[in-house]
Amino acid sequence: MALREIVTLPAPVLRRKARKVTDFGPELQTLIDDMIETMREAPGVGLAAPQVDAPLRLIVVEYGDDEDENIPPKLYTLINPEITRFSSDSEVGTEGCLSIPGFAGDVERPLGVTVKGLNRRGQPIKIKAEGWLARIFQHEMDHLDGVLFIDRAEKVWKHEGQTSQAAVSE
Ligand code: ZN
Repeated sequence: MALREIVTLPAPVLRRKARKVTDFGPELQTLIDDMIETMREAPGVGLAAPQVDAPLRLIVVEYGDDEDENIPPKLYTLINPEITRFSSDSEVGTEGCLSIPGFAGDVERPLGVTVKGLNRRGQPIKIKAEGWLARIFQHEMDHLDGVLFIDRAEKVWKHEGQTSQAAVSE
């Protein structure tokens, strides 16, 4: 495993639509392992492949429970993901992005989503997510279409130093 460089704006790869993964061979497996390591090192709760300059529909997410700090974070690897359900209720939350260092913004998103995709072995998986986990999935999947939180934010501001993990989804 190796750390990969996280690309930041204005890198063009962040604005492109990523292509579907079709090859689940060793190269993809290495990319996934590297993304997990890079996400943990950052630290972040999610990372999309375009953020490490790989224009592929692949995200990794690692996040615990909103309500209970004693539940250990769960790791998700999702390939070619699609959101098949959005809840009708939404919520405004403060987001940041490893590819837009120094900025945060308030983004309104649906509170719950159902995500379908493939795991790293190419097997179908379905995840029902609520709250922050749902927000993280939406933020990361936006990256696969070249969409960034600043495009959706009602308000964006510059912050000094490290933003607290609690306030920022990534
Ligand atoms: Zn991001």
